[in-house]
Amino acid sequence: MSETAKLQQRWEAALMGTYGTPPIALVSGSGCQVVDADGRTYLDLVAGIAVSALGHAHPAVVEAVRRQVATIAHTSNLYINPVALELAERLVALVGDDSARVFLCNDGATANEAAIKAVLRMQAGRRRFVAAERSFHGRTLGALALTGKAAIREPFGPFGIEVEFVPYGDGEALASAVDETTAAVFLEPTLGEAGVVPPPAGYLTSARAACDAAGAVLVIDEVQGGIARTGKWFAHQHEGVVPDLITLAKGLGGGLPIGACIGIGAAASALQRGDHGSTFGGNPVSCAAALAVIDVIETEGLLDHVEELGRQWSADLAAGGVELVTGVRGRGLWLALETKAGAAPAIEFASRDRGFIVNATGPDAVRLAPPLILTADAARTFSEALPGIVSEAASAVRLSA
Ligand SMILES: *Cc1c(COP(=O)(O)O)cnc(C)c1O
Repeated sequence: MSETAKLQQRWEAALMGTYGTPPIALVSGSGCQVVDADGRTYLDLVAGIAVSALGHAHPAVVEAVRRQVATIAHTSNLYINPVALELAERLVALVGDDSARVFLCNDGATANEAAIKAVLRMQAGRRRFVAAERSFHGRTLGALALTGKAAIREPFGPFGIEVEFVPYGDGEALASAVDETTAAVFLEPTLGEAGVVPPPAGYLTSARAACDAAGAVLVIDEVQGGIARTGKWFAHQHEGVVPDLITLAKGLGGGLPIGACIGIGAAASALQRGDHGSTFGGNPVSCAAALAVIDVIETEGLLDHVEELGRQWSADLAAGGVELVTGVRGRGLWLALETKAGAAPAIEFASRDRGFIVNATGPDAVRLAPPLILTADAARTFSEALPGIVSEAASAVRLSA
C-alpha cells in the first residue's frame, strides 16, 4: 500500500468529511516545488489556493517566523503588539489613504465578518445586502449569507442578514438592486472560487457609483485577489475605484493564517471599543510572516514580475491548449484555463500525472494561482507540457463518455 493510501485511510477515520478524501498528501516544499508522501515532486501552480505567495519555505518567511516565535509568539489584544502595529501601518500605506484603519483577524471569513459588522454599525436601519451570484465570501454564517452558491449556502439558512444576489459583471442589474434600503454591496474584484472570472471593464466603477447614489457601503473582498496576485497590491486598483472596506487574507501571510479588514473614510471608525475582537487576530508570528511577504514583494519588484509573467504565460497557455482548452482568462498570476464542459477535472488529473499541481474549480475551469515568485522558465514547463496533458485528458474524457 502506498504511503498516500495509508494516509487517506487514517484521514477518513479521523477527519470530518468536509473536503472529501484528497488525492495526494503534501509533506514538504521548497520554492515552487512540493513533495508528496510517496516522494513525487510537483510544480505547485495553485500555492494552497493563492496563499503561498512566496512559495514554500521562503527564507524571508522562515527567518521572520523563527525570530518571532522565539521572541514572543502571542500577546493577546490586551497589550500592544508592535509587529501587528507595523503590519497595520504597512497596510494603510498600501491602501494609500491616511484615513484607513485595520482590524486584524485570522482568515478570509473572519475578515468578511468584521466587514459585515462595520457595515451594520454604519448603516443604522439598513439590513439589506447585495452580493453576486457565484460569489464566494467564506463559510462562517455571515460570510456564507453573502456567498452566491445556493448549494453551499441554503442548507444553513436563514441568516441574520438579508441578501439579494445579482448576476456578477452586470452593472445595470447591480444598479437596479441598490437603493436607499441597501446597507452594502459585497463584491470580489474577479470571482475566484467560481473559476477566476473577471468582470467587464468598468464594473467596479459602476458599483461604486451605485453605492454612492444610494448611500450604500462598497466592500471589496480581496481575500484571493489581493497582495500582488494580479500585479497590483489590490485587484480593484486596476480600475482605480476606492472601496469603503477591503478584506484580505490568503496571500497576506505567505502560508501563515491571517486576515485583515481595512476601513477607509467613515468605515475606518465604524467599529469602536467593544464592538469586535479576536483572540488570535494580529498574532505576532502571522504578522511577522506578512511583513516578510510585503517586504519581498517590494524589494524583488514582484508587482511588475507578476504582471509581465501573467501576460506572457496566458498567451503561451492559450497557444498550447488545443482540443479541450478554449481560452485563458484572468490577469497576473490569477488565471484560468477555460475548458470544454466536463474536461477540467481530467486536466487536473493529467497535470498531476505529469508533475503539475493545478485546480479544477468546476467542470469547465482550471485555476492557476502559483506562487508570485514563479519564474518564466518554470511557467514555460507547464505551457510546453499542456498539449500532452490535454491529449491525455481528452482520451480519459472519451473513455468515460
Ligand atoms: C477563500 C476566500 C474567502 C474565505 O477565506 P477563508 O480563509 O477560507 O475563510 C473569502 N473570500 C474570498 C474571495 C475567498 O477566495
